[in-house]
Amino acid sequence: MHTGDAEEQELFERLEREFADVKVPRAVRRRRPRPPRRPREGMPRTKRLVAWVLVLGLGAWSFSHTPTGRSLVAAVGWGRTAVAGDGYTFTAETPGGPVRWSSCRTIEVVVNDALRPVGAADVVGDGIAEVAAASGLTIEVVGATDEQPSDRRAVEQSRYGVSWAPVLVAWTTPEADPGLAGDTVGLGGGISVALDGVTRYVSGQVTLDTPQLEEMLALPDGEALVRAVVVHEMAHVLGLGHVDDPAALMAETGGATSLGEGDREGLRVAGDGPCL
Ligand SMILES: [Zn+2]
Repeated sequence: MHTGDAEEQELFERLEREFADVKVPRAVRRRRPRPPRRPREGMPRTKRLVAWVLVLGLGAWSFSHTPTGRSLVAAVGWGRTAVAGDGYTFTAETPGGPVRWSSCRTIEVVVNDALRPVGAADVVGDGIAEVAAASGLTIEVVGATDEQPSDRRAVEQSRYGVSWAPVLVAWTTPEADPGLAGDTVGLGGGISVALDGVTRYVSGQVTLDTPQLEEMLALPDGEALVRAVVVHEMAHVLGLGHVDDPAALMAETGGATSLGEGDREGLRVAGDGPCL
């Protein structure tokens, strides 16, 4: 947890008071319409499992609120090309550029690993390290949590002290997070706030579908596949959207396990935001 300076602490304390009676707006998710399922009769089991890899994330949440407590919902759909570069997209833009994290703050992450599959002890840390290296941002796992994911996740919570809630990475199930129903194996998104006229990410959330990823882990190269899901979802947390190139890790459908050139450039831009 960073403590922030006095001015920021004062802001958090004000937020604490002002948000006491304000409901955090329900985040808006947009789901990609699903094509009708093809019959799977006769399809080899491994092919079915690989097919799950093809869909890394379909929905996301993102909302903005002002420090005055007047909340507004900003719907963001993954895959929408708000700001595009060569081989990458961002999901939200402002007149000043794509919405990003402050480039000089440590992004803190907590992990709810109560449902972590056996054999997946390293994938979250490894995936985060990969995203940190490619973006140049400092991203640190600061501890474990029993916080449950929510598409109405509050960005400041007393359990985390007077600070923005860290990014939550949670192993969970489609029963607990209906966004993971069907072939979706993970969801990720950043949560932004507008302060002093600058919208920036201050928190985020990644949910990982334990039952499906557990089966994916059993595949040859399973750990790399699951790590790729973590990288993809964390890239969403940093603001990246989907791209059409099926070889890119940020493709909505595709089986890439490593960052492509466009992915790397997108992450570099994501990490090159203003120091706030
Ligand atoms: Zn995605």
